[in-house]
Amino acid sequence: MSTLKDFRNDVKPNWCPGCGHFSIQAAIQRAAANLDITPEHLAVVSGIGCSGRISGYINSYGFHGVHGRALPIAQGVKLANPELTVIASGGDGDGYAIGMGHTIHAMRRNINMTYIVMDNQIYGLTKGQTSPRSKKGFTTKSTPSGAMEKQVHPMQLALSSGVGFLAQGFSGDLKGIVSMIEQGMQHNGFSLINIFSPCVTYNKINSYDFFKENIVKLEDEEGYDSSNLGMAMQKVIETNGMLTGVIYQDQEPSFTDQIPNFDQNPIVHQDLHLTSAALTELV
Ligand code: SF4
Ligand code: MG
Repeated sequence: MSTLKDFRNDVKPNWCPGCGHFSIQAAIQRAAANLDITPEHLAVVSGIGCSGRISGYINSYGFHGVHGRALPIAQGVKLANPELTVIASGGDGDGYAIGMGHTIHAMRRNINMTYIVMDNQIYGLTKGQTSPRSKKGFTTKSTPSGAMEKQVHPMQLALSSGVGFLAQGFSGDLKGIVSMIEQGMQHNGFSLINIFSPCVTYNKINSYDFFKENIVKLEDEEGYDSSNLGMAMQKVIETNGMLTGVIYQDQEPSFTDQIPNFDQNPIVHQDLHLTSAALTELV
């Protein structure tokens, strides 16, 4: 039986006090322990940004990739060793700007893994520039007149890109995000979990109070059916993407379910260790 302690290591996060990312790290660790996954069966692959550090803070296999490229690496890891539970994580800049192509194609490809976007609606590591999730008009030191582009809406995008499991959470609701990460990890196929994760240092608009005031919780919506794609899209548009909960889940076969005898022929077996040379060949 694995415990929360199994997923802790000695590395002290250097995130700013109060950063939303602490909750996401704790939620991944709790979800893995609750599902009784052992550290040697978990791989966390991250991109670049404050969020990218997460792979170093969890006691599991970890890979800190390059900007926007967490998904190709994570998909390669899963194909190479299907016995691993694979999580990719990164920021909204990582996943919805430089990595956007990978995000869309990973959703339609449907490899059995979980992608967690730590969405703070800004670039935090580089000291506060607008990201694709910043609202039109959002001002920063480098955009003093306000962002001129419209915001990317990841929930609409995901539903129209064939995502198999879609959820959205808030760092201020640890219990909620533990539950949705567990459900995402258990889903047979690709799951996207977008988590509102306040950057307390550079984004004073999208704060904990902002999300508490503006979030619509799906659990309060009577009659909501998460297997109904049309209903999911309608609710996402009605709430301007500010809803939290499990928004959509289908029962489609995963990518590898469609490959005859894939289980008998994985590229790497669990009793062999995944080597960096094997990874290099894959990516
Ligand atoms: Fe978190 Fe923002 Fe600090 Fe980065 S800059 S660690 S996102 S609070
Ligand atoms: Mg960001």
